[in-house]
Amino acid sequence: MPKVTIILTSYNKPQTVGDSIKSVLSQTLKDWELFIMDDASNEDTQKVIKQYVDDPRIHYYNSNIKDNERYKTTRYAALINQAILLSTGEYISYLTDDTFYLSNRLEVMVQFLELHLDIDIVYSKQKVNIVDKELRIISERIRDTRGVLRQPQNIVDHCSVMHRRSIAHKVYNKYGDFWDDDPANWHNGDAVFWRRLAVFEPFYPIEEVLDISLKGPNSFQNMNAYLPEKIPNGTLVKGLSSKIYLIEGQIRREITKEMLEKLKYNMKMIVTIPDPVLFKHREEDVIDESIFLEPKKFPNQRLVQAKEDESIYYIQNNKKRRIINKKTFKKYRFSEKEIVQVSSFFLEAIPDGIPIYLNLVKTIILPDRLLCKTGNKYYLSNDNKFHEIHLKVIKKMKLPMDKVIQIKRSELCNYAVGKPLQWMYQLK
Ligand code: UDP
Ligand code: MG
Repeated sequence: MPKVTIILTSYNKPQTVGDSIKSVLSQTLKDWELFIMDDASNEDTQKVIKQYVDDPRIHYYNSNIKDNERYKTTRYAALINQAILLSTGEYISYLTDDTFYLSNRLEVMVQFLELHLDIDIVYSKQKVNIVDKELRIISERIRDTRGVLRQPQNIVDHCSVMHRRSIAHKVYNKYGDFWDDDPANWHNGDAVFWRRLAVFEPFYPIEEVLDISLKGPNSFQNMNAYLPEKIPNGTLVKGLSSKIYLIEGQIRREITKEMLEKLKYNMKMIVTIPDPVLFKHREEDVIDESIFLEPKKFPNQRLVQAKEDESIYYIQNNKKRRIINKKTFKKYRFSEKEIVQVSSFFLEAIPDGIPIYLNLVKTIILPDRLLCKTGNKYYLSNDNKFHEIHLKVIKKMKLPMDKVIQIKRSELCNYAVGKPLQWMYQLK
């Protein structure tokens, strides 16, 4: 039986996962087993991992999870639970695909645990490197130890812990599993498990940096920060792959680069979101040339105009809403640059909706995606309701601050106020 089980969870980090594995291979303590739990990563990532799987100490598992199932559990927690059951090490330790152990990590932690037989859980200091897309270091900080912890959650990182196997069994007996893979824990699954461990024993500090963790623009924490629970209609999003999607309701439609141009989208408006959030939206027909043949497929929240016709229309709920005059167009901060030219034949085929009047009250149905301000509060219109929106969420959703519309309270009062567009989780 090996001394230490290391559980490495992996998903689409081809640039760094190799270094994570190498950091295990170069440990001064050699008596370990490594479980690489790959969550159906892309080919690039799998290629990197395959280089290492011949080492008899390395066990490779691929979850083969389907993308549309990804959001249903906190994936890394589910993978860790599987790995713990397969593993045999006396001590258990966790690693992610953008973190590297220092070469003495296992040796130092094991030595400490062998010296202190009454201690079950240790944690160390961690170096955090904030990096850019190319992994260049922008800044660094130390996540310090904070003494003996009975409340380790959100203080101790995923990759800075080692515990005895025996205590994992205590957790299992009490909770029915090890890590809690409820999807509500995506942002802090480690904290939830630490809390379970701490029910039995406190976490003891080792006053040394023993791992280095990267935080980049594509780390879950960053992509998820300030993301509202419901993504407003008409938002362009992308996950880890280069594909871009348009969100409407709980639906996503892929949109080609070519169509982004044809439909006059502002490319600066693309929001990066975590894959599990992206895949939670059901995928429907791709937005391609065929939308110009089938009005029902034409995306909403677009401005259209036919040649030889002065009127400009806003597409909403698959209907065309005439913008009553220039002044109205200006008031709602519509942009000339975003008008899509279509044939008059096509325009006629789109059913008429209620026109958009200068007077917001008379407009009856709120145009989607108006960013309004009254007093010191911001609101975004979505599905005929005003939703209060925090500045941080405005920024996250790449909504243009130069298009904020000042409205009167009396105008606001004529519409229902929906759930605030509040972000789900704070940064750790
Ligand atoms: N992960 C996973 N499946 C997914 C997304 C992420 O197993 O669909 C794993 C990922 O490989 C990593 C861990 O979850 O080991 C945490 O993810 P990430 O590094 O993106 O989050 P952060 O470091 O920002 O908390
Ligand atoms: Mg990470």
